[in-house]
Amino acid sequence: MKIELIQGDITSIPCDAIVNAANSKLVGGGGVDGAIHRVGGTIIAQQCAEIRQQSGGCPTGEAVYTDAGNLPARFVIHTVGPIWQGGMKNEPELLANCYRNSLLLADRLGVKSITFPNISTGVYGYPKEEAAEIAIRTVQEFADKLHSIEKVIFVCFDSENVKIYRALLSQ
Ligand code: ADP
Repeated sequence: MKIELIQGDITSIPCDAIVNAANSKLVGGGGVDGAIHRVGGTIIAQQCAEIRQQSGGCPTGEAVYTDAGNLPARFVIHTVGPIWQGGMKNEPELLANCYRNSLLLADRLGVKSITFPNISTGVYGYPKEEAAEIAIRTVQEFADKLHSIEKVIFVCFDSENVKIYRALLSQ
């Protein structure tokens, strides 16, 4: 499995599955979530509403999926990152669960390529360096347990995250 790093807008990068940093009610918000709903179209919100009706939404650290609408992908995997509250509220484990559960779900869906945003590092306030370490470590730990996934792409929007990921991935 290859790991790549791209700086840019996750909605413009073709792949099989795009991971969304969603909220637990699965209602489109700002940041990457807003961009995914805007570009993907209303089908995503419709399917999120169906999931909400069936199960109430998506708990922190878990992942669900919808179609990708007009996005250059087959699926959107919606995962809910933890809100940073100082680090003593199980945030590291919950953030690792986001990457883990998104990869497991994508693998079950037969996904070959998957893009991840920097979950929780926007409005949810997770320190970027710590979040990047967890993201990379969790993906690397899973590499040999996955069957269909051939490529994981970390998509960094802001230049601070790009620098952090570049440094960690070159180690
Ligand atoms: P959270 O609520 O999980 O913190 P945000 O969407 O606020 O989610 O931020 C998560 C990360 O997504 C941030 O690092 C932000 O820079 C990044 N981001 C925002 N828009 C995009 C986009 N279009 N493509 C990729 N990443 C994005």
